[in-house]
Amino acid sequence: MSNSAVLPIATVGEKILDRQAQAVTEFDHSIQSLASDMLTTMIAANGVGIAAPQVFSSVAMFIMASRPNPRYPDAPNMSPIVVVNPHIIEASTHMELAEEGCLSIPGQRIKIWRHAQIKVQYHDLNGNLISDTLVGFIARIFQHEYDHIQGITLLERSKMSEQQPETVN
Ligand SMILES: [Zn+2]
Repeated sequence: MSNSAVLPIATVGEKILDRQAQAVTEFDHSIQSLASDMLTTMIAANGVGIAAPQVFSSVAMFIMASRPNPRYPDAPNMSPIVVVNPHIIEASTHMELAEEGCLSIPGQRIKIWRHAQIKVQYHDLNGNLISDTLVGFIARIFQHEYDHIQGITLLERSKMSEQQPETVN
């Protein structure tokens, strides 16, 4: 971690945020180094997640790092997880509405519907396949960062999200 750097963050309007990111096929030093720089950049910006396209790399990788915060006081405190080549395998029909921010849209909070629970698969930094079930705030971070990998910004998601009807518990 000695040479990790704070990278510039792409803001909405940058074309790279609209582009589908490329899958990682070589789990080599350059991917480890990018992950390390993304982590340093996310911490410096006080984020709970960051995706590679946000630091101008069109690579299917993101970091999630949940911790309790004023908006989500009950959010779990977890060590940052590096997620490579993410897939959402299954999503609950139950949706939850909550405000989200985005490092690429400084100073704005937007209410977004997200699946309350998702089953996911991804690779870790060594190329091992991981399967997991995520709920609540962590599921929300995953869906937010996964959108970045697909080239969907929070503004576009909020327009799609307006059509989401109220769901019943
Ligand atoms: Zn974002």
